Amino acid sequence: MTYKSKSSRISGFYKMTLEERVSVLTERAELTPEEVGLLRSGGGLGLEAANRMIENVLGTMAYPFGVAVNFRINGRDYIVPMAIEEPSVVAAASNMARLMREGEGIRTSSTDPVMIGQIQVLDVPDMEKAISSIEDAKGSLIEGANKLDPVLVRFGGGAKDIEIRSIETETGIMLIIHLLVDCRDAMGANAVNTMCEALAPRIEELTGGRVLLRIISNLADRRLVHVEAIVKKDDIGGEDAVDAIIDAWAFADADPYRASTHNKGIMNGTIAVALAAAQDHRALEAGAHAYAARTGHYRSLSRWYKNGEGDLVGVLEMPMAVGIVGGATKTHPMARLALKIMGINTAKELGEIMAAVGLAQNLGALRALTQEGIQRGHMRLHARNLVVMAGAEGEQIEKAVEALIQTGAIRFDKAQEIVHSIKDKPK
Ligand code: NAD
Repeated sequence: MTYKSKSSRISGFYKMTLEERVSVLTERAELTPEEVGLLRSGGGLGLEAANRMIENVLGTMAYPFGVAVNFRINGRDYIVPMAIEEPSVVAAASNMARLMREGEGIRTSSTDPVMIGQIQVLDVPDMEKAISSIEDAKGSLIEGANKLDPVLVRFGGGAKDIEIRSIETETGIMLIIHLLVDCRDAMGANAVNTMCEALAPRIEELTGGRVLLRIISNLADRRLVHVEAIVKKDDIGGEDAVDAIIDAWAFADADPYRASTHNKGIMNGTIAVALAAAQDHRALEAGAHAYAARTGHYRSLSRWYKNGEGDLVGVLEMPMAVGIVGGATKTHPMARLALKIMGINTAKELGEIMAAVGLAQNLGALRALTQEGIQRGHMRLHARNLVVMAGAEGEQIEKAVEALIQTGAIRFDKAQEIVHSIKDKPK
């Protein structure tokens, strides 16, 4: 049995010690001693590699790297790495994935991985003539763009189409050309920007205008992931619980103040996987929020409703500009390890997992908010953060957490009092 066919349903994973978890994962994902060493290295990125990645490097900064268990997506089990500093996210994702495992589990699909490159043309003397010149030259423009990236074309990607718009702006009418590029397993920003820059002189000739910007759009609405999951009503607390979740979703869908927090919950899951796999998470955030506002009204990225059996159905559709080649995906050793743990070979699969985790996370938040309130689940971890902030160390931490929870007031001043009294106690 290869690890790809092994179950991700690992009961009691959260109760294991760190060493036990590493040992389970070593067996499950067939990790090499070097990869286990990477997990223990405190971030996995050497100074030399970091120094090559960005400018003015002084050091590196680590995040907790954990895994969500229980995910079944399109009939296959996945253990999903997540890098995040916020407590409760990994636990909620794992718990909700358990509820979504029925049958094939979470079902996903994606469009082709098409990104949009924008070319901004100013001072166009005759808009209609310019548009028809570009229409006529479409084939040769696309061919020209593809000559720049034979590797991408060899993998079945490359420039596929050109769309033309004119827009009214504060500084006048502009001609905006969209180059649609299938980026296959790359996120695609470098590839698309290179193509747009190279086409600019020819666009100026064809339009008689002046090209200013040539840059990818992060509103990747041609590169969408669709995710769907069903949760049996009895697994989520019965009919009333289902109705409450749907009411909570309707609030988010109607009100941007609520939608921003609702969508932030989705991104808690999606971005944690993105960070573990060294994706451009700023691009993902920008794309998701712009897509949520595509109707002119900022709304929920997900939708929750009841099916004929009264079970809860969740649907999430979002742009997903991810890559497993290019960027830091190949240069960050932890990102390579993350892809290995998931056992994936395509950017499409990575994007679908990231959206699935987003949907699970969304349900986790909706369930907590409609049932017990978000703070109860967070209490223990919040208490732990407060006592550490107040100076607790080693064995003092658990002692102080217990005492703080006992007070019923999880506050920093209380944490300080408790930590001071523990520290002052004669040994
Ligand atoms: P890249 O140029 O490093 O890699 C992509 C290239 O890899 C392709 O052009 C292709 O030639 C080659 N390739 C090899 N195998 C491939 C395969 N199977 N599928 C597709 N291509 C394959 O990286 P990129 O993905 O073009 O750019 C991503 C980087 O750009 C990220 O680091 C991102 O942060 C950065 N970036 C983002 C923005 C933005 O989002 N607005 C802007 C500029 C740069």
